[in-house]
Amino acid sequence: MAETSFIARTESAERGVARVVRGMPASDGAGVRLTRVIGQPALSELDPFLLLDEFRSDNPGDYIAGFPEHPHRGFETVTYLIAGRMRHEDNKGHKGLLTAGSVQWMTAGRGIVHSEMPEQEHGLLQGFQLWVNLPRRSKMTEPRYQEYEPAAIPEVRLPNGVRARVIAGRFAEQQGPIDAAATEPLYLDLTLPAGAETEVAIPESHAAFTYVFDGVARLAASDTRVPKGTLAVLGEGRSVRLRADEDGARLLVIAGKPLNEPVARYGPFVMSTEAEIHQAVRDFQAGRL
Ligand code: FE
Repeated sequence: MAETSFIARTESAERGVARVVRGMPASDGAGVRLTRVIGQPALSELDPFLLLDEFRSDNPGDYIAGFPEHPHRGFETVTYLIAGRMRHEDNKGHKGLLTAGSVQWMTAGRGIVHSEMPEQEHGLLQGFQLWVNLPRRSKMTEPRYQEYEPAAIPEVRLPNGVRARVIAGRFAEQQGPIDAAATEPLYLDLTLPAGAETEVAIPESHAAFTYVFDGVARLAASDTRVPKGTLAVLGEGRSVRLRADEDGARLLVIAGKPLNEPVARYGPFVMSTEAEIHQAVRDFQAGRL
């Protein structure tokens, strides 16, 4: 028995695919059309990740209504913008403009009320919002923003043409700027030219996935085809090898340490118990966020 588990662990050094999930069309905010990848029936969560939305449209009717004033408590929202501009403002006096290529890692903690509104009136708006859970001990922490302009995000260029933007964690000797102690996240935006392959180290303790948003990638260990609009949950191991098909591929590789705690969630509140959810609703209604 001991020998079997030893062998299994050795063979799992390279992560395969645990499951493949297609994003589904959804609408949120004041009617923004988006693709919900995590937080939908086929994949309700992937501890510590609670939600992943992709928004991508050049039709203003799909995005212009934006996300007017709404609350959050108990987790972190991560907005990574590929194209377009998004203006944000909260009830604590924090405001700013996200431009193409920038990231906002917002720790909602005990609570904020904010708006996220497209600044542009036409053209392509493209990006992602990821929700990362906080451990119970940190849910009521003070709100915190980590915002980085495109130039502050390290970009790796490998000899085979692979490019990576390192938002969080480590890749090819580069360290992303984000500090998120509880989940120690890895967040990479990878561009793979046709036929190019790359290997990404991922801590063994972490849950991990890749989401392909352009072209087709293959998980080299199993040759699993992962086309645009598809997320692959990765199995156990210490790294993943990814290869682009003939048209190249662009994808996110995201990993984080699972919290293994109970999750009580209701809309924009993610706590540990139902009682804490009721308290969050009461605090919001009484203007205490
Ligand atoms: Fe929000």
